[in-house]
Amino acid sequence: MRFVGVDIESVGLHPVNGIIWMLSITEGKRTKVYHDCNGMKKFPADVVKILEDPTICKIIHSSEFDAPYIEMNTGIRMRNFWDSKLCETVIQGTQIPRNKPTAMSEKQFEALLQRHSAQLQYVLIRYGFKQPNKSVRQNFIDRPKGIKFTKEEISYAGDDTKDLPAIQQAQEYLLTRDKQLEVALLENKVAEVVAQMKVRGLGIDRKLWLEIADQNLQKYKRLIAQLPKEVNNWNSPKQVKEFFRNRGVLIESLTDIENIQAKVNDKILAKFIEARNMYSDATAYGETWLQRADGSSTIDPDGRIRCSWQQIINTGRFATSNPNILALPKDGNQRSAIVPRRGCVFVIGDYSGQEIGIMAVASGEEQWVNALMRGESVHSLIAMRLFQAEWDAGTEKGCIAPFKCKCKAHQDMPGLPYYKSKKLNFMLAYGGGPGKFAQITGCDMLTAKVTVAKYKKLIPNLNKWLEKNAQEALHTGVTYSADPYHRRMVLKGQEDWMIENQGKNYPVQGAGANMLKLAMISQPESVPVVLPFHDELVTEVPKAYANKAVKIMKSIMEQSADYITGVKGVIKVNPRVAINFAKQ
Ligand SMILES: [Zn+2]
Repeated sequence: MRFVGVDIESVGLHPVNGIIWMLSITEGKRTKVYHDCNGMKKFPADVVKILEDPTICKIIHSSEFDAPYIEMNTGIRMRNFWDSKLCETVIQGTQIPRNKPTAMSEKQFEALLQRHSAQLQYVLIRYGFKQPNKSVRQNFIDRPKGIKFTKEEISYAGDDTKDLPAIQQAQEYLLTRDKQLEVALLENKVAEVVAQMKVRGLGIDRKLWLEIADQNLQKYKRLIAQLPKEVNNWNSPKQVKEFFRNRGVLIESLTDIENIQAKVNDKILAKFIEARNMYSDATAYGETWLQRADGSSTIDPDGRIRCSWQQIINTGRFATSNPNILALPKDGNQRSAIVPRRGCVFVIGDYSGQEIGIMAVASGEEQWVNALMRGESVHSLIAMRLFQAEWDAGTEKGCIAPFKCKCKAHQDMPGLPYYKSKKLNFMLAYGGGPGKFAQITGCDMLTAKVTVAKYKKLIPNLNKWLEKNAQEALHTGVTYSADPYHRRMVLKGQEDWMIENQGKNYPVQGAGANMLKLAMISQPESVPVVLPFHDELVTEVPKAYANKAVKIMKSIMEQSADYITGVKGVIKVNPRVAINFAKQ
């Protein structure tokens, strides 16, 4: 394979109406810098050929920026990436936070960056190259057009690519040695999808968005008006805590109130929680969400948003910013303001059974696997056995359990067997035990201990598997996703209980991330992804193509799941056609 290092110097990072000053290309030891002090609208024909050729691999440090920027300003779509930043993140097996954690000193943080950061300046030094003079970068940011570039500026642009081919070779060696090459190749392919997602953007109905925020604010005001007048200011934690203390409800921290409510079931506290959630929805997802830190709008002139994508966080999943679309409440009404392009619809596939399916197969919990294959609910299955008397008492005529049934007492509501079983089924894999169960359900500690012990007997293989994973993580300092990719996460400098929890959780989370990413890269161009939202995959297609797209997406998402779990048919997906992103 031919490898070519690519980098651009530009105005800003946002690809819409940008200016490209320079393009640097390195092949082997030869670096060439192309530049235009009035902004490059075109690249030389031989360069275009290299960029577009899928048989030539482009080494780019952070393709999430360069690829959409080049495509949106020159029309050239690059194919075949080696993203040295993503590859470095896979090699390090850890993601270093952008900002210094408060518990760390400047010196400690700098040492951490030198050891593990995937930023180019640190990668260059780690692989034995010289760090480029970063001060020149400033010259490109607010530069007026028409000022000729200096020799120093041109040579700076070349410095950013000249070592990329050597870094690529070193990274490929390390990835092969550590059996992480397949993960890196997956990420490089995902990077191409992310670039296309950014070029395409995601539609938002600004007017509706603001209306929803306003409705939430009005609702908040109504809820507050219904609360006792004894409290002057319901936004004051001090006054709120004092009020509830006088009612016999002790609140140490307001972040705990939902758990406290689960125990005390206080009418006023319930209203207060509802109001508080409404307030955060109304403020966080109002006007401010549509603005960047510098005050500019996150909605581009074409009515679409283009987030910054951080492609690998520690779980292997995505994170976003500007705007932070992945932080949208999963069940909130703001989702209905995310809309497809005119004449198009969304087709949305949901991997909601993903974690249970991965755990069932990887741990060899046959009862779960068989239930999933038959399309039964694992939560119902557990509820019927663990809370038998309670369950039977609530069985109505025509109950089809362990398939998901319609009986009132068999629903996913706090206090009911189904709800408690569902919590248990997820809880162990997040490191929870009797304490957590007592907190979630409001039962006493003895009941919690008995219930969890009884539960573990129902799922002996899953329990054993989780414990084994926790111990391995503790002894080795690494944990791997439970799928053919074997994505690695390095657990350094954390406390034992945290390592144990991650040892239990990461194999499941990492495999889930791989499943979604594999589905993303397998979509044909006719069913383009516009948003991977946690376990959901959103594509945008012309209305007339919707039914065909549903079939394609079902097949791709299920095949990806089959590959990850290794058992055909455990995870089922039924994509739906939607005119907005509202939760169904
Ligand atoms: Zn039922």
